[in-house]
Amino acid sequence: MSFENLGLSQPVLQALALKEYTKSTPIQEQAIPLLLQGRDLLGIAQTGTGKTAAFMLPSIDRLTASDKRPQPRTCRMLVLAPTRELASQIAESARGYARFSHMNIATVFGGTSINKNRQELSRGVDILVATPGRLMDLIEQRILSLNAVEILVLDEADQMLDLGFIHALKAIVKMLPAKRQSLFFSATMPKAIRELADKFLTDPVQVAVTPAATTVERIDQFVTFVQQTEKQALLTMMLRAGFSEKGNMDRVLIFTRTKHGADRVVKLLTGNGIASNAIHGNKSQPQRERALGEFKSGKVKILVATDIAARGIDVSGVSHVINFELPNVSEQYVHRIGRTARAGAAGIAIAYCAEDERAYLKGIEKLTKQRIEVVPLPENFVNEANKIKASRVAVPGGAGDRQERGGEDRNRVRRPKSRRPNFGAAGAPKTNRSRRRASGR
Ligand code: AMP
Repeated sequence: MSFENLGLSQPVLQALALKEYTKSTPIQEQAIPLLLQGRDLLGIAQTGTGKTAAFMLPSIDRLTASDKRPQPRTCRMLVLAPTRELASQIAESARGYARFSHMNIATVFGGTSINKNRQELSRGVDILVATPGRLMDLIEQRILSLNAVEILVLDEADQMLDLGFIHALKAIVKMLPAKRQSLFFSATMPKAIRELADKFLTDPVQVAVTPAATTVERIDQFVTFVQQTEKQALLTMMLRAGFSEKGNMDRVLIFTRTKHGADRVVKLLTGNGIASNAIHGNKSQPQRERALGEFKSGKVKILVATDIAARGIDVSGVSHVINFELPNVSEQYVHRIGRTARAGAAGIAIAYCAEDERAYLKGIEKLTKQRIEVVPLPENFVNEANKIKASRVAVPGGAGDRQERGGEDRNRVRRPKSRRPNFGAAGAPKTNRSRRRASGR
């Protein structure tokens, strides 16, 4: 549906035209008219569905319509987000959407100067995007009061709970004016989230778009069974081929389960002459921003991330997501691979599954209600892996010189040759649904 029919103002429509959004996404279509009426909303949606615009566009119009000036040390709209990256991204989107609407927008999150926050908030802002921890600090230091909040948005509530923000959220809700509009978004809706939502919302309308597990349909998914100790060699081979002239990789997001694991992958890739950055919770804010910036600009085309750090990362043009380690929570898999199918674009997701990760794979297949196509190790894997290991430049702390084993395990999951999907010159499977159907499993 076109945005013109949703009841948005001219300045907002103009901003959308500038962004070249031609059609609204399902969540925008469902939520915008209700939010313009001032209803509370419970939205079940993940990033990639266009939910930021769904809550920002009508809120900008309502703030404009109520025509109040922000009072010193207050905000009129408060958006709570679980991570710094997501908060920055929401603020960036808001600035784009409010381009012609004269909104004063600020972002606050941990790891940055609180004095700068003090300055920015001293005269009050229209829209404040915050992580809960920093918000509480600012309130405690009397830099900010929540008594003028007209609109509250709580984004990625399930992630907030995972990160232990429950107490902060319960404290925040008590400080908000009773008369306000509240919007609550979560990718999943287990009981604890629903209970939290009840504390924030009054008679909400509920909007659910493509439940998390079905959004993966547009993504070509593959799994390769590989020993943990061989994953580095496989990754190196895939990346070398994928970024070669004939390769089909543009930008690759690699997931590990732990921060340490992410650092190890980066070190090993460095040892193999492949540039990459890591993004995770132990990195400083400038390091995280630099890694994300270089990935966005294409300067460094490989980003290795943990789940928390990657949550909400919105980078267009991620051609491949590689699950170097499978997540132990199946829904994380959906979030991870969703990075490669944002706003309509399709992508490729490849998982490396070691013996002790098979139960995770089963859980993922159960959740997504689909079987993931198995791609065997490349035929020349044993030789190539040995060459890679031999040529590796020593990197302190790298896992390159770990144990060697015999070859029989490597061949465990090989398909008959005729049914094996082609790794191709790219070294990584290409998008081809017919091939997936043909290969069966
Ligand atoms: P979100 O789910 O809010 O993280 O949005 C995901 C991505 O989709 C962002 O890059 C948005 O800029 C983009 N987007 C949101 N709405 C639209 C739309 N109607 N048309 C095209 N792109 C959109």
